[in-house]
Amino acid sequence: MDFILTEEQTKLKAKAREFAIREVLPVARKYDESEEFPLPVIKKAWEEKLLNLGIPKKYGGKGYGLLDACLVVEEMSSACPGIATSIFDNNLGAEPIVIGGNEEQKERILGELINEPKLIAFATSEPTMGSDVAGMKCRAEKDGEEYILNGAKFWITNGGYADYITVFATADPEKKHKGIGTFIVDTKTEGVKLGKHIPKLGQRSSNTVAVSLKNVRIPKENVLAKPGRGFVLGMQTFAHTRPAIGAFAVGCARSAMEYSIDYAQKREAFGRTIANYQVIQEKIANMYKDIEAARLLTYKAAWEADQGLDNNMSSAIAKAFASDVAMNVTTEAVQIYGGYGYLRTYPVEKLFRDAKLYQIYEGTSEIQRIIISRFAMKKYEHAMPSVFKRDRA
Ligand SMILES: Cc1cc2nc3c(=O)[nH]c(=O)nc-3n(C[C@H](O)[C@H](O)[C@H](O)COP(=O)(O)OP(=O)(O)OC[C@H]3O[C@@H](n4cnc5c(N)ncnc54)[C@H](O)[C@@H]3O)c2cc1C
Repeated sequence: MDFILTEEQTKLKAKAREFAIREVLPVARKYDESEEFPLPVIKKAWEEKLLNLGIPKKYGGKGYGLLDACLVVEEMSSACPGIATSIFDNNLGAEPIVIGGNEEQKERILGELINEPKLIAFATSEPTMGSDVAGMKCRAEKDGEEYILNGAKFWITNGGYADYITVFATADPEKKHKGIGTFIVDTKTEGVKLGKHIPKLGQRSSNTVAVSLKNVRIPKENVLAKPGRGFVLGMQTFAHTRPAIGAFAVGCARSAMEYSIDYAQKREAFGRTIANYQVIQEKIANMYKDIEAARLLTYKAAWEADQGLDNNMSSAIAKAFASDVAMNVTTEAVQIYGGYGYLRTYPVEKLFRDAKLYQIYEGTSEIQRIIISRFAMKKYEHAMPSVFKRDRA
């Protein structure tokens, strides 16, 4: 077991931190206020090869593993969770192709993402369902070797600016998860309508839209997973992207903790800086230990994916734990700032709003707990003999 980053990983982390401080931090508040899409920052990230982190070398990418991606994501998110979500969304959109695409699809689409600053989004959710992926209604009707999509997708990150969307749709809603397929949708195709940005509580610089699909013809070469194979592909994708949500949450919490330390050491109350009070010291200690634990769980989930191990459980644990840490730490940060924490004067107010999303997207905290409790109660092997099978005399 080795907790030390390699030399390349240390360099990559430093590169991402430098980028985050130079390009993201100065515009974080501006984009949050205007709710504009940070396209210039995304293009800059593409130029500096910090977009499309998951694309293998064979298709022109840097060949980073998931742990490498998590290092980058933590730094980006520490400067602005919303812009980080916008930057990382290409990983989410491209991951089903990386996992399930054929050679031609990988060379064509992944190659295009590397050669041009193009965006690819990911769409399972619909206006009437998010958690219950198997309950989707968007239809995929077979027509020869092609498919025709009809329906609506909702909450699609980067959707308003996407060149491609990996869309999950069902051949038959009655078949639930067995009916779902995955399709690469070129957003210029006739019948695709990208909605306007939907205003949000936090992460306001990430673009969120509805997507309408009306008789959208999908050519044979853009069928990624035939109906029956899409649900598993979606779940495999989440296992590879949820550790990154853990890393987002760690970055967000880390900044909230750092700003809390800055403030506690400066702000005076009752003749001393508030950092002198043990109640405040306890808050800082809890922040520090929880962030450290969240980071380790995130690294473990990412490492397992990089080793080709089944990381379904570890990614659920990392996402659920780190999301709660981000929410708790940002809440305590606002508290340490007192009245100023409630104003837009300092960044903790924004981080508090931004943190909430981690408990919702890519599977809510409740859904992660369902995954964890199912494993704990059905698959986990007990070390002790059952309490009901022991001689209790
Ligand atoms: C800003 C933003 C960006 C997003 N980006 C994308 C994207 O790019 N692509 C995409 O496809 N989706 C995206 N989503 C959608 C997101 O994944 C869903 O919102 C999320 O999965 C929850 O689904 P829902 O909103 O329909 O809530 P519901 O599924 O309706 O759940 C409502 C509440 O009930 C709880 N609940 C549901 N089922 C159970 C259960 N069995 N047991 C206990 N509790 C349960 C949930 O945890 C939640 O608290 C995004 C959402 C947001 C807000």
